Amino acid sequence: MDALERFCWLANDMDWEADDERNASTAISLPSTKEKHLVIYSAQTPQGKPIRLLKTLLSSACERDCFYCPFRAGRDKARATFQPEEFARLFIRLYQAGIADGLFLSSGLAGGGRHTQDKLLDTADILRNRLGFRGYLHLKLMPGAEKDQVWRAMQLADRVSINLEAPNAERLSRLAPHKGFFNEILQPLQWVEQIRRSKPAVQGWQQRWPSSVTQFVLGAAAETDREILQTTAWLFRSLRLSRAYYSPFRPVSDTPLENHPPADLLRQRRLYQASFLLRDYGFRLSELNFGADENLPLDVDPKKAYADRHLLHTPVEINRASPEQLIRIPGIGQKAAGRILQARKECRLSDLSQLKRLGIETKRAAPYLLLNGRRPPIQLSLFNPLTH
Ligand code: SF4
Repeated sequence: MDALERFCWLANDMDWEADDERNASTAISLPSTKEKHLVIYSAQTPQGKPIRLLKTLLSSACERDCFYCPFRAGRDKARATFQPEEFARLFIRLYQAGIADGLFLSSGLAGGGRHTQDKLLDTADILRNRLGFRGYLHLKLMPGAEKDQVWRAMQLADRVSINLEAPNAERLSRLAPHKGFFNEILQPLQWVEQIRRSKPAVQGWQQRWPSSVTQFVLGAAAETDREILQTTAWLFRSLRLSRAYYSPFRPVSDTPLENHPPADLLRQRRLYQASFLLRDYGFRLSELNFGADENLPLDVDPKKAYADRHLLHTPVEINRASPEQLIRIPGIGQKAAGRILQARKECRLSDLSQLKRLGIETKRAAPYLLLNGRRPPIQLSLFNPLTH
């Protein structure tokens, strides 16, 4: 296998990483004597700019044995490893040819977290400082990376991340018994925030510090939604994480969890909805509705569950509500709330058709609001019991 073939093969092995920026993928053929295919993701930077993202590993060899992972040590699987210079020179060809303008770079662990992180940093350094790569870079932090390495990563990348995998140490021990929750994984994330707070942002790539994200494996450690959201809320509040990703567990053959059932995709959706309420809508964890099993109900989205409990009997007056109150109404997001505030400067809102013209999902919102002191008529047919 030549270097470019190995490069493509390694990148195409990455579909297990259910991370962020990607939203669609295309396999492209690379011009060469032998046709080679490479999966490139249509993605967006944290600033919303569309990019063509290559997600790949520096090495798929790993000395750890996480129970869920296709790359775990001892699993019968072909591996490939690149040295930083070789990898950087291959990637820059894709960048210069306009095939990829963003890179998500991770690695299996070999020789410890510090050594592996050094390899990733060397690669990023060559790309940025010797080969002129100006595109988007999401660089993984390795379990066990040290603070000076985290700082260096933040000077080279647009985004850094390390996967917590589980919401606490006890749950992690069921997935990856040889990973240290606090010292190896949480600590680097804490350093990211410490550095952002203590050092001037001009030291970062493009004079700003990178955003930070993490990922949890869902459904393989008997973790509850409350546990996940508790940790997520803390990460948003204390470490200013941009996002938490929830990767539904899928069993991998020849691993200790090969017979464990896959996670429910609807659970993933509910967790994302709840995490956005915590991050963007001012919700506290105590305002989310958990069942007796400490999980979110699957049959209702968390914002509607909140509204059913709190707003049905005390609907929100659209003409007086604050932005914070408006965005708690199902069907009204931040942009729609802004449009309502704008419209209120010009007239009183007394009819659902006015809200509809503002882009509000009136069917969802109507049961929870008042228009000029009155419940909208649509509500009568939807919720007869409440008319009394
Ligand atoms: S350390 Fe990472 S690559 Fe290695 S087995 Fe664990 S999850 Fe997989």
